[in-house]
Formats: sequence, C-alpha cells, structure tokens
Amino acid sequence: MADARPRILIVDDREENRYVMCRVLRQSGYDCTEISKGSEALQAAQSLPDLMILDVQLPDMSGYEVCRQIKHTPQTAQISILQISASFISSEDRARALEAGADGYLTHPIEAMVLVATVRSLLRLRKAEMVARKAADEWQSTFDSLSEALALVDAEGRLVRWNLAFGEMCGPCIDANAAALLERVLGSSEGLRHSASERFQAEYSISHRTVLLTVEPIASEANEPGRVLVLNDITDRKLAEYALRTAEKIAATGKLAHAIAHEINNPLEALTNLLYLARTSEDLETIQQFITHASSEVERIARITKQSLSFQRDTQRPMVLDIGQLVEDVVGVYQRTAAARRVKVVCQRKPSLTIRGFPGQLSQIFSNLVRNAAEAAPPGSNVVVRVRPISRRGHEGTRITIHDCGRGIPLDVRKQLFDPFFTTKELKGSGLGLWVSRNLVMKHNGTIRFRSSTREGASGTTFEVFLPVGGIAAGNGYDPGEG
Ligand code: ADP
Ligand code: MG
Repeated sequence: MADARPRILIVDDREENRYVMCRVLRQSGYDCTEISKGSEALQAAQSLPDLMILDVQLPDMSGYEVCRQIKHTPQTAQISILQISASFISSEDRARALEAGADGYLTHPIEAMVLVATVRSLLRLRKAEMVARKAADEWQSTFDSLSEALALVDAEGRLVRWNLAFGEMCGPCIDANAAALLERVLGSSEGLRHSASERFQAEYSISHRTVLLTVEPIASEANEPGRVLVLNDITDRKLAEYALRTAEKIAATGKLAHAIAHEINNPLEALTNLLYLARTSEDLETIQQFITHASSEVERIARITKQSLSFQRDTQRPMVLDIGQLVEDVVGVYQRTAAARRVKVVCQRKPSLTIRGFPGQLSQIFSNLVRNAAEAAPPGSNVVVRVRPISRRGHEGTRITIHDCGRGIPLDVRKQLFDPFFTTKELKGSGLGLWVSRNLVMKHNGTIRFRSSTREGASGTTFEVFLPVGGIAAGNGYDPGEG
C-alpha cells in the first residue's frame, strides 16, 4: 500500500538544521527527505512532494530562485513552499520570498511547535486548494462538453466565462462586452436590453443558419445578479419542421381535393338523374318537384365550393386589426338569422388587443363558430361571445369564446369534429366549417379548442380561440402547442 503520509523535502545546506527539522517533523508523522543544494531541490521537485522547506542561502543558488522556478513551472506550482532564513533577515527579504511565490516564511531560531503548526496549516491550505481546483476543473470540463454554446455575463454586461462551443461559434476573439459580441455575431443585442430579471428568447438567421438565443437571469446570494447566454444552432430542427409542414400541407391539399370531388360527385349524380327525370316527364307538377329537388342539390354544391374556395383565396397582405371589432361585426351579421330561430347572439367585449392577420379569414373563423353555436342553441336561449385580452405561456393575445347551451357534443363525435366533411347536419351542413376554421387559426399562430357537456339541464358547448398579438407574424418563438 502506498505511503499516505504527506511528503516533505527539507532543503538546507547546514546539516544540523536539516537534522533538527527532520526529527521534529518525522515525530509528527511526516515523510521527510533531506537535500542540501538548490539544483537537487529542483530535481526532487519533479517527484511532486506536498511541501518544501527551503533555506534562503544555498551553496549553488539562492532559495528565492529555487522557489521562483518551482512556482513558475505549471507542473510543480502546486507544491507548498515554506521559506526559512537566518534570524537577521529584514522585512524586505520576507517580502521578496513571498513575491517569489513562497506560501509561508519563518526565521531562525524556529521553535518545534511553531514549525509543526506552520507545516500543518500550509498542508491544510494546499489540500483545500486542490479540492477547489478539482471542483473547478470538473465544472469547466462539464461546461466544455455541452454542445450548446454557453457564456456567463456579469451585472455590468461583461463576459466572464464561456465554454468551448461558445468560443467556436463566436470566436476566434471573444469580445469582453457581451452586447458588442451579440451585435457582431447575431446583428442584435436586444436580448441584453430586455429586463434583466426575465428570460429572453429569439431566433436569428446567420448566413443560412438559424440560431436560437436564450438569455436566462441568474441570481445567487453570493454574487451580483448576472445572466447566462445560450446559443443553439437549430438549423436542422427548422429544416425538419419545414419539411414536415410542407408534407402535411401537400397531404391536406390532396385529401381536400379528393374529398371535394367525392362530395360534389354525389349531388352531381343526383342532379343528372333529376334533370333526366324532369326532361322525360310530362306532368308539370312532377317536373317542378324534380326541379325544386335539383336546386337544393345545386345549393349544396355551392355551399361546398364557397367554404373550400374562401379558404384557398385571400391573397391580400395581412393587416393590423382590432379583433374585438371584427368579432362584433361578425356577430352583427348573424343576429338576424339567429333571431329567426329565436336565438339571441350577445357580444361582450373588453378592450382587446390588435393583431396582424387577414380580416377575411378571421371573419370566416368566427362566422363558422357563431353559426354552429346558433344552430346548436335551443330556441329562446342566448349564444354568448366574449372577447378579452389574456396572457398565455408568456404570450399576450386575445381570447375569444363562443358559448351555447345546446345539447353538447357526444363523445363519439368529438374526435372527428375537425375532420373535413364531418357533419351531423346531413344535407344542411358541409362539414367544412371547423376544419377550415382550425386551419385558419393555425395560420394566425393561434389555438382553437372546445369544452362540451351533454348532461341534461347543464348541457352546452364553448369554443375558445386564442390569437397571439403578432397574429400571422407571431411564429417567432411562439409555440401554439396543441390546437
Ligand atoms: P357543419 O356545421 O357544416 O356540420 P362544422 O365543421 O362547422 O360543419 O361542424 C362539424 C360538426 O361539429 C357539426 O356537424 C356538429 O355536429 C358539431 N358541432 C360544431 N359546433 C357545435 C356546437 N356548438 N354544438 C354542438 N355541435 C357542434
Ligand atoms: Mg358549421
């Protein structure tokens, strides 16, 4: 088993000094080796003892020089050095020794107790230093092994520390000023102008790559509050998302085209038959019945094309609009139709936020939802439409709810609600309202969901649409989550 006793080198040209110190220290449990020359001390330092007791006056070179060389060589710098000198030494000499890197200083005559206590305290210090260095090394190598580029910024906005990935992404020279660095690398330092106590996140495009910057506040009791900068290259993720979106769009378009052809084919067949019957019939009343029937089939075709075409159209630019006003206008349009069924549509709006979007598409969303609610509401009841600004997952926006006290949506129907052409209204419905609405809400980076109850006496349905302030332009950093 290796000797666990701390190793001490005693370097002194006078044998009696060495002998006394060696005896005292051995009695206290240290492993001591005696050396008489400076050059030998330098040689022996390579074996990395824990401590070196070093006389100032050595025959071949000065003890100060030995100390300086040991402390200036990275491999040996961690050896503790206790400089010893004759009694007449001045404070200047003492200062010189400490400047050369000595950890302690004693002058002869040295009492045994003082020698042992000094050695013990120097070794304790060295041990603490090594533990701290090991922890720092471990921390640094963990920090460096992270693939995210990380940097620490102090309260004054200076870069204090950064990892390898950060150096690679922002190097070769790292600016001391964090704002200057962000300007240089990302073209903007807005992340640091943001409130220091809040998390900031934004995406930047740098020469065909997309980088996500996160600025995270850190607070510690010991230090001034600072911030951590995290840079993430998300180019691949973005490309994958884009590919997925495009594939989904193509699939959805194909599905829609197929579904439309199928849906239109049925009434067309019926039309062909009815027209044939009308042509070959001689009784005027029968002919009229066929024609009435035919015109309802034409209406159905018209309804289908209108719904799907208005979804594809709308090529105008998005504009800033007052969403509360838009919803109120839609409600106004439906009030009369609903009144015919003795249903009142009430609009309660708080001052809402403006959003960027396509007014035609947004009106279509709320028309579909208000119409569904008015169709579901029992005669004599109210459909309540509420508009209010809210904050969801840190994003400001407007919530619009449309509530009716109809019979609610049965469980088996809920899953298909947003499917194209799913309808429970047979010939009266196109089954495109919710499908189109959901696509349009998603296009505006919003979410749509519903709650429904079929419990007798307490039944009803509430559709909720959330639209973030940026609307169509809110894609940056906003995750609409499940629709
Ligand atoms: P359509 O209204 O033409 O049937 P939608 O896509 O607008 O097509 O709606 C699909 C189906 O969802 C409706 O047929 C109906 O069964 C159900 N639904 C939608 N809104 C409500 C509501 N407010 N209450 C009850 N059922 C609803
Ligand atoms: Mg509908």
